[in-house]
Amino acid sequence: MAERPLVSQVKIGQYVLKETLGCGTFGKVKVGVHQLTGHKVAIKVINRDKIRNMNVVGKIRREIQNLKLFRHPHIIKLYQVISTPTDIFMIMEYVQGGELFGYIVKNKRLQEAEARKFFQQCSIDYCHRHMVVHRDLKPENILLDKYKNVKICDFGLSNMMMDGEFLRTSCGSPNYAAPEVIAGRMYAGPEVDVWSCGVVLYTLLCGMLPFDDADVNSLFRKIKTGIFLVPDYVAPTPANLIKKMLQLDPIKRATIKDIKEHDWFKVDLPEYLFPSASDVDASVVDTDAIREVCQKCQVLEQDVHHALLSGDPQDQLVIAYNLIVDNKRISDESDPKIRIKDFYFAGDVMKSSEQSKPHPERMPDNTQKNPPLKKAKWHLGIRSQSKPHDIMQEVYRALKSLNYEWKIVNNFSLRVRRPGSTPGDFIKIGLQLYQVDGKNFLLDFKNLNTTDHPDAAKVKRMTAQKQTEDSYGASVHRPYRILEFFETCCSIISVLAQ
Ligand code: ADP
Ligand code: MG
Repeated sequence: MAERPLVSQVKIGQYVLKETLGCGTFGKVKVGVHQLTGHKVAIKVINRDKIRNMNVVGKIRREIQNLKLFRHPHIIKLYQVISTPTDIFMIMEYVQGGELFGYIVKNKRLQEAEARKFFQQCSIDYCHRHMVVHRDLKPENILLDKYKNVKICDFGLSNMMMDGEFLRTSCGSPNYAAPEVIAGRMYAGPEVDVWSCGVVLYTLLCGMLPFDDADVNSLFRKIKTGIFLVPDYVAPTPANLIKKMLQLDPIKRATIKDIKEHDWFKVDLPEYLFPSASDVDASVVDTDAIREVCQKCQVLEQDVHHALLSGDPQDQLVIAYNLIVDNKRISDESDPKIRIKDFYFAGDVMKSSEQSKPHPERMPDNTQKNPPLKKAKWHLGIRSQSKPHDIMQEVYRALKSLNYEWKIVNNFSLRVRRPGSTPGDFIKIGLQLYQVDGKNFLLDFKNLNTTDHPDAAKVKRMTAQKQTEDSYGASVHRPYRILEFFETCCSIISVLAQ
């Protein structure tokens, strides 16, 4: 009998390509699984030949660069872009709740409260503030995570090629396109997203499209008349908002500000969706942000200064700068006041060993029943300049994606465990965030595999004689299972470093 051929795995970076999530205009979107950690991402494969004819390769590069700086809870995060001579791979956050489209089809039409939650989370305000108009908002590009929160995807490419002709020939659904787009007229941008969001809101509340026809030309005619019916079962307040958003004349159409001030939109609006911009002094240049732009966009400081002085808000370096400043502000505002007592200065760690103070890792932990370990001379850790709460959020996200369990010791200290080789056996590690100086934080990894592993007793018996001479004292408290400890650290670091 012939041997079955081995199925070869296609790898992009560290990710093994798996099933296809969607097929689109420029290629496929596939699941990618990290070969070491099992962490899942979505990988969009853009075939260069398909975009070469459109003369946009150079433009796309800068645009994608800025998308990497987008940081919003309801926008799919772009982690990395890998270029090869034939394809561009966009490595993105993966969400498993499917498309909003499927959710509407399954539920026919949604209750007002749920429709409002989805609509509020469609964060076009954030995109517009950073000079990105989505231009292709529709329930197929609005994804849901497992908690049924919105994550908008499919940015970037549509910005360069959404004209009437493109819509007519592309395979996407044109039901959400604004009348001025299909008429091929000039438009500024944000107002076409408002129209599309109006169609999305209508669809959420009515379970059908405001403009629909199997024939594209008849559909375009219907959209251009701007005439649609709102069924009686839709309450007057949301119906009023829909009508304001689906105004044929872009000048009369609701702006984002109008939407934010609308009575229906304001109900149960979570504060985090619209953080205030009042405390930003635009006349002060943030030198840290400038340095970050230089590093991310591979340019010189003088290029960034020049771009900022040019006053052109569309300049890609200006956009990158504003995104970095905005990200810092959002994380500052979302952080409750950081309690410095929850931190340990790494400098203190050094001092503590010199002055034989108790090791800071064990200071807050009065519940620990085991005798303290010998003080560590070295720390295994990774360093970050992000805000401490951001670092911890990333840590939680990484642990979650790895399916590890954790116990919170305090805001900046966790005990983590993952299943070992036999049932009931766990590999345990401690994670502690230290403040190194005014800016730098160190996430320290500690091996907590000691007494409670069943093999520990065996090890103890086997090494009983040696222990008597062992300067470390009770060896059952000595960290062991070193390889598994490193494997666990490595898996967390790999996810964090993505
Ligand atoms: P296209 O330009 O081809 O429409 P999209 O970025 O919209 O590309 O992706 C196509 C489909 O793939 C989406 O409609 C969605 O079903 C799926 N998809 C895209 N990105 C993700 C993601 N990050 N997580 C899960 N599914 C995704
Ligand atoms: Mg799409």
